[in-house]
Amino acid sequence: MSKKVTLLGSTGSIGTQSLDVIRAEGFEVSGLAAHTQTDLLLRQVEEFHPAMVAVTDERAADKVQAAFANMVHAPRLLRGAEGLRTLAAQSGADVVLNAVVGAAGLPATLAALESGCDVALANKESLVTGGALVLEAAEKHNAKLLPVDSEHSAIFQCLQDAYSAKSLQKILLTASGGPFFGKTREELLHVTKEDALRHPNWSMGAKITIDSATLMNKGLELIEAVWLFGLAPRQVEIVVQRQSIIHSMVQFSDHSILAQLGVPDMRIPIQYALTWPERGKPCAPELDFDTLKSITFDRADEETFRCLPACKRAIEKGGLAPCAANGANEEAVRLFLEDKISFLQIGELVERVVEKDSYGGAYTIAEVYECDRMARAYILEAL
Ligand code: NDP
Ligand code: MG
Repeated sequence: MSKKVTLLGSTGSIGTQSLDVIRAEGFEVSGLAAHTQTDLLLRQVEEFHPAMVAVTDERAADKVQAAFANMVHAPRLLRGAEGLRTLAAQSGADVVLNAVVGAAGLPATLAALESGCDVALANKESLVTGGALVLEAAEKHNAKLLPVDSEHSAIFQCLQDAYSAKSLQKILLTASGGPFFGKTREELLHVTKEDALRHPNWSMGAKITIDSATLMNKGLELIEAVWLFGLAPRQVEIVVQRQSIIHSMVQFSDHSILAQLGVPDMRIPIQYALTWPERGKPCAPELDFDTLKSITFDRADEETFRCLPACKRAIEKGGLAPCAANGANEEAVRLFLEDKISFLQIGELVERVVEKDSYGGAYTIAEVYECDRMARAYILEAL
């Protein structure tokens, strides 16, 4: 089975692992998109020969344009946020894999779906900021949303049997607990970005690694699950599974539970999104039960890690509240990585943004952008 894939965010953690899968499966690359890492992007162009490339950062786009001038069969270059959307809509791919980080990924998700193209979604922020618009576009244009996030891939895999899927009662969304599991607020007062960037099980981009340490990532994933699987927020329960071996579970009406297990390696869910409904060749090591010995379960500490209850509150409020929580978090994480705020301030700021407004009901894309901008401005003013 050969497939044409367009990969947005090809230079990131998910992007490079996606290219490992694409290489192993022998898929074709129709388009690649990156933001600033031009050298890596150019190496990817040499290897995969995409017909189109989008570069969102202006200076990086100039560098890539200069490099393409000396190339015999240079791809067509698209520039800026508009270029990313054009690539998502017009590359002629069977599937667009969106591995851009942050709310910047939403317009491209919508553009791909509106062109009728299936989207393999790593960019959870698309659903958090504009879930209603994303679902509407997928339905209207008969395009599929295939989860890449490991938990959502696990749930999706557990729901392949249509008879059982009808009897879904709740989702047990697993969480590693991150590097600060078991720590008190006192102990978290002076943790540094270096401490927060040391994740026990996964190697990921900086933003999601901080989100894992604050449990914002689990909050974003709860919202993502509500949209992807059409559930009420109370039907998603968080279970801490420290070894990241159970990637999530589903419980049916008869209280029977199905789980998906495997080594913590994102190439497995990336591959499933690209080969679905079929399964691909081995792309990650087997799970070794002899070394593993045991898997443990714990409760998430929502008193200490305030981002998680803030996200629950946001999805219960509905409307643009999740978008505001996400915008506030993106800004707060940026400030934390620049040593301008403390670790615990991230959760306090996200909580304040969620509480400050009612955030309405239905929304347009223009309102999403405006809410995202306001949430970020609020964080800067609050300091
Ligand atoms: P990285 O930071 O490693 O990579 C982000 C990618 O997005 C890079 O290619 C980067 O380009 C590009 N990018 C950054 N800013 C912009 C922008 N403004 N416009 C367009 N492109 C941009 O992130 P990850 O790969 O870790 O995460 C990507 C997404 O996948 C996130 O939404 C994350 O939550 C999700 N995810 C990640 C997992 C993981 O294991 N890493 C697991 C599950 C979900 P450049 O590098 O060239 O600047
Ligand atoms: Mg995840």
